[in-house]
Amino acid sequence: MKIFCIGRNYVNHAKELNNTVPSEPVIFMKPITALHPIRNYFYYPEFSKDIHYETELVIQISQHGRSIKEKFAHKYFNEFTLGLDLTARDLQQKQKSKGLPWEIAKGFDFSAHLGDFIPLDNQDINNIDFELKINDKQVQKGNTKEMVFNCNQLIAHISKYFTLNKGDVIFTGTPAGVGPINKGDCLEGYIGKNKMFTLDIK
Ligand code: ZN
Repeated sequence: MKIFCIGRNYVNHAKELNNTVPSEPVIFMKPITALHPIRNYFYYPEFSKDIHYETELVIQISQHGRSIKEKFAHKYFNEFTLGLDLTARDLQQKQKSKGLPWEIAKGFDFSAHLGDFIPLDNQDINNIDFELKINDKQVQKGNTKEMVFNCNQLIAHISKYFTLNKGDVIFTGTPAGVGPINKGDCLEGYIGKNKMFTLDIK
């Protein structure tokens, strides 16, 4: 299983971190050890003082494919959920300022949090409302129609370079409103009115 992530896929988020809006998708990956086997808590790691939440729609690849054309990409996923791309922002800024890879800031243990996948059925993947609440207060919200590159375009682009396998997941990027988490916080992710995950920070 591969975990793909997309950076800077919402204009307002790219701007809030002083990044330019990319002309093609920014791809990075997390190792499989970034997934927490028990999914309802996260221990704040010692190597960072500024772990941020990034709430993202996540799609799961349903069949093997490579060099997939955009017009066929919709056949390669049929489930989605909400996830968190947890980011050690202090480490990421340090790596970025030196022009170095940011894996330690993005791919560390348990940095990928996933809700349960639900079938897409007849829902329009390009019009999905989602939000994150921390301690019952909304801190981030978005709609997939605001994505710079939609899911089909992402699949076409990623599969130019990487074979996609059934079960691979794609974190499709985060809207504006990212911010820090703290010990004791309770994070809850929603798609529409449906709660997709709860994560306690310890
Ligand atoms: Zn992200």
